[in-house]
Amino acid sequence: MPPTTPIREIHEFELTSICNLACVYCPHPTMTREKAHASFEVVEQTLRHVKHYCDQGTQGEVSLTGIGEAILHPQFDDIVSAFRMVIGPRKLVLSTNGVGIEDHHIESLLRNQVLVFVSLHRPEVAAPAALRMRQAGIRVEENHKFVDSALNWAGQVKWHVSAQRKRCDYLGLGWGVVRQDGSVNACCMDAGSLDPIGHVRDEPGTLRTRTISLCQACHLVPPYELRESA
Ligand code: SF4
Ligand code: SF4
Repeated sequence: MPPTTPIREIHEFELTSICNLACVYCPHPTMTREKAHASFEVVEQTLRHVKHYCDQGTQGEVSLTGIGEAILHPQFDDIVSAFRMVIGPRKLVLSTNGVGIEDHHIESLLRNQVLVFVSLHRPEVAAPAALRMRQAGIRVEENHKFVDSALNWAGQVKWHVSAQRKRCDYLGLGWGVVRQDGSVNACCMDAGSLDPIGHVRDEPGTLRTRTISLCQACHLVPPYELRESA
């Protein structure tokens, strides 16, 4: 049996698996799982888990990201507010490609003190979007890791790998990733959610993370030294 360790936080939540771009270095264009927005139930159940880890004292930042463009979710503003309410002062992060950012998104991001990473897949759109958000008072960072710290999604896409080979924090720190359909993954690499470790309908506190088949081809190093823990 591979070592397992308890999930200690919901590190990422995928609001949607729908995207408005088709980047060649991303698994999204060839992904076969359902392309849809997270339901009310999935959001509610995810927040139940997040609250559990907040109460337990192990929840860190929450990143609203995934294999899809989060701002496309029609209830984006309400979901951001709900996460802010549950996580209190913890860091709340959004990854967006900036395509389709509207004023109501910007107001919501500002009101909820969200740190925004704008991925420069389409710089002619993303750079002006980043500027608008900065001018509104939002903290914005630009992301071009797909060029200078690139990865091939554990062999799932044809792209160069320039990202540093280092210990996997997902496994090492017990980070869980919730997909749009409520499945919970050991990490962001399982784009197709082919090897889930649970579902948000499971009882909070019962999820355990483990190595998955993709780990063998990943640029990160699974912390194999982990041992069964209580
Ligand atoms: S990298 Fe981001 S913007 Fe590009 S296809 Fe993937 S999810 Fe969409
Ligand atoms: S594939 Fe394995 S080593 Fe790579 S990020 Fe995921 S859990 Fe970590």
